[in-house]
Amino acid sequence: MEIIDCDFYCPYCQQSNDIAVDTSCDIGQQLIQDCRVCCSPIEIHVFEWDGDIQLDIRTDSE
Ligand SMILES: [Zn+2]
Repeated sequence: MEIIDCDFYCPYCQQSNDIAVDTSCDIGQQLIQDCRVCCSPIEIHVFEWDGDIQLDIRTDSE
């Protein structure tokens, strides 16, 4: 089990955010996190690609 901090940009306001991804249970999951700047709900799809954790960031409405 490993917790990895991943950076991403808010799709609403383009500000930097980060999320702690638990590699033992979050891969393949869709998480919702509110932007720390504009508080909009960000949809985060976590997946693994080439041994790295990747985030697919979407607005909640998409
Ligand atoms: Zn934002």
